[in-house]
Amino acid sequence: MAVGRIIKALSGFYYVQSNEGVYACRGRGVFRNKKITPLVGDFVEFEVRNEVEGYIMKVRDRSNELIRPPIANIDQVGIVSAATSPDFNPLLLDRFLVLVESKHIQPLILITKMDLIAQAEIDRIKEYQTAYQEIGYEVKLLSSKEPEWISEVMPYFKDKVTVFAGQSGVGKSSLLNTLDPNLYLETAEISKSLGRGKHTTRHVELLAIGEGLVADTPGFSALEFSDLEPEDLGPCFPEIRLHMPDCKFRGCLHDKEPKCAVKAAVSDGAIADFRYDHYLRFLEEIKTRKPRY
Ligand code: GDP
Ligand code: ZN
Repeated sequence: MAVGRIIKALSGFYYVQSNEGVYACRGRGVFRNKKITPLVGDFVEFEVRNEVEGYIMKVRDRSNELIRPPIANIDQVGIVSAATSPDFNPLLLDRFLVLVESKHIQPLILITKMDLIAQAEIDRIKEYQTAYQEIGYEVKLLSSKEPEWISEVMPYFKDKVTVFAGQSGVGKSSLLNTLDPNLYLETAEISKSLGRGKHTTRHVELLAIGEGLVADTPGFSALEFSDLEPEDLGPCFPEIRLHMPDCKFRGCLHDKEPKCAVKAAVSDGAIADFRYDHYLRFLEEIKTRKPRY
């Protein structure tokens, strides 16, 4: 049996990349009865029918999966934020970080449009960069208009499947186009010139960029914490995760409880105020289950 990875799903065919090449496969065999729908990103076992076609017989266990876009076995989410237009928004960035952490996927923070801001703004963004780096996150400051930074960011895609996430207009398509000029993904300008909205029905595809694979469509269109319970939130903040074992009470939510190690870390500056503030806001949102902003 051959083994490969689904890199595209289109019109009932799964395109499976193996060492021998790409095979257009249909699903067949036991997995059909188990009601598993193969996803882009899945590792599969398939029967070779001829040089270009085959049948998928088995879908291997997934390490994770997203629903929108439907992709399995993601190694990394590139969370794209703009330095301006739209304004840099650490609250939204933290929301994406929590969603990515809750799925146990590694985030990579990418801040675009650095070419559009003045020095004072650059300094402010760099302070945030330092704060996130202290937590342990990689933060790259970029401009899709100045492609020199590509060689710096390329190694982060090596041997990984990366999905991009971020608000509309932050520059995800532009970034992908700069990473691989052969892509020609639809950016805001192109949509405008074609007189249509962006991201009209598209299939999902994994594209080779450098030595890695990148999904050509952005992820996380649903931003609610619908799968999270209040006690799940702390572990999605690495710096809270670090201090919470020292809280006096089991099940401490680091809010009003006494002898809370997380609150102590906030007081002595080991945890940034803005991060703790966002934690409390998200906690409230999860407790009441109503997004407020
Ligand atoms: P998406 O919705 O996240 O895919 O965003 P787009 O890639 O369509 O970009 C939105 C707008 O921002 C477009 O007009 C882009 O040309 C512009 N843009 C994206 N990245 C940059 C950047 O790094 N610098 C500048 N100056 N403009 C950018
Ligand atoms: Zn606590």
